[in-house]
Amino acid sequence: MSKETDPRRISRLQFARAVELLPDLKRGLVDFLDRPKRVITTHFPVEMVDGSVRVYTGYRVVHNRVLGPGKGGIRYHPRLTLDEVISLARLMTWKCALHGIPFGGAKGGVVCDPKSLESAELRRITRRYVTELGDEIGPHTDVPAPDMYTDEQTMAWVYDTYDIMHPGRNNLPVVTGKPLDLGGSPGRHEATGRGIVLAARRFLELGAVPGLTSLDQASVVIQGLGNVGGVAARQFAAEGARVIGVSDSRGGILDGSGRGLDLDALFAHKLSTGSVVGLPGTRTVDNEALLEAGCDILVPAALGGQIHSDNAPSLHTRLVVEGANAPLTPEADDILARRCIPVLPDIVANGGGVLVSYFEWVQNNQNESWPEEEVISRLRQRMYRTVEVVTERWSALNGKGAAMEAPIDMRRAATSQAVAQLSRVTLERGIWP
Ligand code: NAD
Repeated sequence: MSKETDPRRISRLQFARAVELLPDLKRGLVDFLDRPKRVITTHFPVEMVDGSVRVYTGYRVVHNRVLGPGKGGIRYHPRLTLDEVISLARLMTWKCALHGIPFGGAKGGVVCDPKSLESAELRRITRRYVTELGDEIGPHTDVPAPDMYTDEQTMAWVYDTYDIMHPGRNNLPVVTGKPLDLGGSPGRHEATGRGIVLAARRFLELGAVPGLTSLDQASVVIQGLGNVGGVAARQFAAEGARVIGVSDSRGGILDGSGRGLDLDALFAHKLSTGSVVGLPGTRTVDNEALLEAGCDILVPAALGGQIHSDNAPSLHTRLVVEGANAPLTPEADDILARRCIPVLPDIVANGGGVLVSYFEWVQNNQNESWPEEEVISRLRQRMYRTVEVVTERWSALNGKGAAMEAPIDMRRAATSQAVAQLSRVTLERGIWP
């Protein structure tokens, strides 16, 4: 990993840039909003299906709990680092604040390669990880959710393990993103991808991208066809957009027809071969060529640090919508701002997942299940509102930006808004004791 794409550096710079816009913030408050509240590292043994024993490392970080319990996903990835988990927890703090969700920010994960593990091994890793966290997670302290390479099944194991440890009470709100028949919310699986498309749609309607006011016929390239990217592809198509390029960890493809990819054929191909690569009628490209393909909207929906100072000058898009967390470096932000390519940042665009996670938590606390239409309607309302508020702030900041040497991007507008809100609430609550 190059220094530029180091997740901790990216998130510290994002914070520092936001704070520059808030000159009244006192030093101690800045430090408090910067640092993680609690960091857990745990090493634990797991017996594999062949009888051998391996030791795994798990993390859980609560960044801030000023607005409510910690909230954030659990990621399984072989290159997961504590720095990355801290940075992702920080993003969650800002995301919850921006979307008006009464949660703080958290994140966790286990360093493992889920692709090489049996289901029984993943179950044991998950159960042991949850046991190691003990009462550090809970319905009113820290509420996990899915993230990369964890899913509804993983969340069911998290719930079951916690429930065994805490019998005799309603433990459903301890984790979100659960299967539907285990207290999951209708619409949760699709929430992040759907939210991305809602955010893009509203942003275009607000006239933020000159010459592009609707998704109809817009060409879209998506990096990462997992939960987020896959659902976003379907939702973009439902809005009349053409998905012309996609990728996964094995490579990318670009449409050869000009009409956009046949999504039914694409998902069937991925299901049968394990990858998007090789779909008939498409051209195989590498990661860089996919990101640099000409399109109206580029959606990085895989890993962090994918767009940086080397490739940002070569992007041929009119709008970047961040599906993944932290896919752009601050240097890429600057380059795109100078090139007048707006970026709808992660904390705005991919907030649909945590919004519906919050709806799931509310339903679990009330022992209720809302109809899917109600979930979608609430999601739409909240996504639109966040996009409107941040776009307004972005315009206002740039309007009085005569004294600024560079345009202020959407990320700075959004992050500074979240940090200002967090500082206000911190002072309202008062520093204890
Ligand atoms: P996922 O595991 O379902 O999918 C990840 C996809 O990325 C897979 O298709 C994988 O093949 C692909 N990928 C991995 N490495 C790649 C590479 N180098 N190039 C191209 N593709 C690559 O994960 P997800 O839940 O879709 O999450 C994707 C991103 O969105 C992550 O950054 C995650 O933090 C973020 N996110 C997820 C949610 C959610 O609700 N799932 C919410 C907010 C943000």
